[in-house]
Amino acid sequence: MNRFFLSRQSFSGDLVQVTEAALLHHMRDVLRLRAGDTVIFLDNAGWEYETVLQEVAPRLVTGQVRQRQLCAHEPRTKLTLYQAALKGERFEWVLQKGTEVGVSAFVPVLSERCVVQHATQLSPRKLERWEKIVAAAAEQSRRGRKPALLPAMLLAAACEHVHRAGTLALIPWEEGGVPIRQALEEAGRGRLPFNVALFIGPEGGFAPAEVEMAAGYGLRAVSLGPRILRAETAGLVAAAMVLYHYGDMGG
Ligand code: SAH
Repeated sequence: MNRFFLSRQSFSGDLVQVTEAALLHHMRDVLRLRAGDTVIFLDNAGWEYETVLQEVAPRLVTGQVRQRQLCAHEPRTKLTLYQAALKGERFEWVLQKGTEVGVSAFVPVLSERCVVQHATQLSPRKLERWEKIVAAAAEQSRRGRKPALLPAMLLAAACEHVHRAGTLALIPWEEGGVPIRQALEEAGRGRLPFNVALFIGPEGGFAPAEVEMAAGYGLRAVSLGPRILRAETAGLVAAAMVLYHYGDMGG
């Protein structure tokens, strides 16, 4: 069944109204949805609204909610991926695939060896494009919330941020570090950490001094195994490992 995120204002009681032009076009002209069809609307707060369409006009779609339920596909673990800036296309790939895997927030990070050094100036157009990518990936993978896209940060600021928040923070480092499984097991004793931060380096990796600085803020250097993964692969693999560890990949 087709799934669409809508703004909160679109919902009122049992009625849903869609007025956003791009979505109207997509529903009516691309998917050819018609009155009587059933779709799922999402409020980005974790609820799904199974809705029967009543009117499908060029400027307005209305529907009657048949059933509302909490989305069962959201991970409990809130995973934030701090990914060192990558060239456009690769970062977009991380956004799309990371959303499918279950990342809850993405933060572009600037570190010493980043080739891209202008990510701090995230243009509104680029942000809009990224928002579309995560929304489409979240709909496709049946999530109940779109991951948050946070402004770019310098590595030191990002480390300080997770330190202050007391979040379990791991920094995969191919030059050393304990196996990620060990770090998760040791951190998990006692209570379940619902927030986890993962820091992935750029194509050239983190400089040793950066990993040392991160350790000073309480980030733990971990290994993702014997093979060296490309930066965009590493974030996804690490995210899957963390979510698997906390039972968020099923089973
Ligand atoms: N500079 C390295 C590769 C960096 S890979 C080289 O060319 O040899 C990019 C990022 O992916 C790293 O900064 C790290 O965060 C992560 N990464 C990739 N493979 C990893 C592994 N086996 N263990 C831990 N981290 C890894």
